[in-house]
Amino acid sequence: MLRPFEIHEPGTVEEASVLLARFGIDAAIYAGGTELLLIMKEGLAHFPHLVNIKTIPGLDEIALSAEGDELQIGPLATHWDLERSPTVRKHAPLLAEVESQVANTRVRAVGTIGGNLCFAEPHSDLATLLLAWGATLELSSSEAQRVLPAADFTLGLFETARQPNEILTRIRLPLLSENTAGAYRKFSTHERPMATVAALLEVKDGIIEDVRLAVGSVGPLPIRASEAEALLRGQSIEGATFASAAELAASASDPMDDLHGSADYKRQLVRVLTAQALMEASGRAAGETNEG
Ligand SMILES: Cc1cc2nc3c(=O)[nH]c(=O)nc-3n(C[C@H](O)[C@H](O)[C@H](O)COP(=O)(O)OP(=O)(O)OC[C@H]3O[C@@H](n4cnc5c(N)ncnc54)[C@H](O)[C@@H]3O)c2cc1C
Repeated sequence: MLRPFEIHEPGTVEEASVLLARFGIDAAIYAGGTELLLIMKEGLAHFPHLVNIKTIPGLDEIALSAEGDELQIGPLATHWDLERSPTVRKHAPLLAEVESQVANTRVRAVGTIGGNLCFAEPHSDLATLLLAWGATLELSSSEAQRVLPAADFTLGLFETARQPNEILTRIRLPLLSENTAGAYRKFSTHERPMATVAALLEVKDGIIEDVRLAVGSVGPLPIRASEAEALLRGQSIEGATFASAAELAASASDPMDDLHGSADYKRQLVRVLTAQALMEASGRAAGETNEG
């Protein structure tokens, strides 16, 4: 049962930050509420003060930057907004594709990308994708604004680099070069994924110039599979050793035993999903489809 709380409705990010600083550990930011209200209903946490950031105009905007080189996503954009946005579908179709597979319709309709990232629940599709993508996150308080790479934002299980008075105000996604193709693979038996893999391949004249590979949902936070990336860099796309790269990604993934499955089972999932994601990205790079 929900214990009583007071809702605050700031009109600006600065006001929200001041409220968060004033109420300290008694306050939480309230976006879609799909995680927050659940833990409050289950009595796992109680916040007497909820700071509803949906009253701040503009935080749900999705737009191309003035320079046209990155997608700028407001934290209040819901999974549904991102799945259906013509701007996202045109400039970052892989994001729209991943968003269409998040959770269920009810959660996608109200759950936000900002809430997903800030909650740092380990079974996050977006955390894995944005790590591989090299996204950056803008955090704002009444005192300052800073920009962090996605790689430095998630610190562990339900833990981020966000300070208590900071609000995630923008997610910046650099547009992929025309030589870059991506693919995403996940495996779920419940609503949240048990293993996730994102692969981005930059291919020029048949050679893999760059590769970014992230593995998530098997451990406390997503990781880059750097040894697998190093193996593939410089290989020809035709003869690329994707199976060996998948083996390295599985070894690096450091899975946990939990209710979703054993560590060995998850390691095997990573092996399979990595090989599939790399194959699909290479097919896309070769022009088999223009998604991603
Ligand atoms: C049944 C179910 C299935 C799910 N399946 C998946 C899945 O398959 N894949 C996946 O990736 N995710 C999944 N999720 C997670 C889902 O994506 C999140 O619940 C949702 O995106 C959270 O957004 P929200 O706006 O509801 O966050 P809220 O519940 O409002 O907030 C979550 C946390 O983030 C903080 N917060 C929110 N916005 C900000 C901000 N802008 N700045 C700073 N802090 C902020 C809040 O204070 C709170 O601590 C699932 C969730 C549920 C309930």
